[in-house]
Amino acid sequence: MAKLISFDIDGTLEVGEPPGGITMELVRQVQDLGYLIGSCSDRTVSEQQRIWLDHGIKVEFTVLKHRLNDVKDQFPADKYYHIGDTEADRRASLQAGFDFRPVDDAVVQWLNGLSPQ
Ligand SMILES: [Mg+2]
Repeated sequence: MAKLISFDIDGTLEVGEPPGGITMELVRQVQDLGYLIGSCSDRTVSEQQRIWLDHGIKVEFTVLKHRLNDVKDQFPADKYYHIGDTEADRRASLQAGFDFRPVDDAVVQWLNGLSPQ
């Protein structure tokens, strides 16, 4: 069954402001493993779409931070993760029923060859 990962942008992705620890290459690797991926950020949806487009990554969803629950409604999956860098990310995850992974923990885990679990 599917697993889904939502990425915050600023402070989480390397292309954020400020840059975070998740490279776009890492995002591609995770997508290649079969995860459904997308972003959930305070950036507007069109800004989020432009970022992914600019990097040639086709994502399943782009939502505002308080709309993470919409993603769950739209995509049936076994596991839902949100990766972010702030308390707001943790709160949004809890409210939407996602497992929150602090960005630095996620990077360390992946660099050690482990997928999120
Ligand atoms: Mg952030």
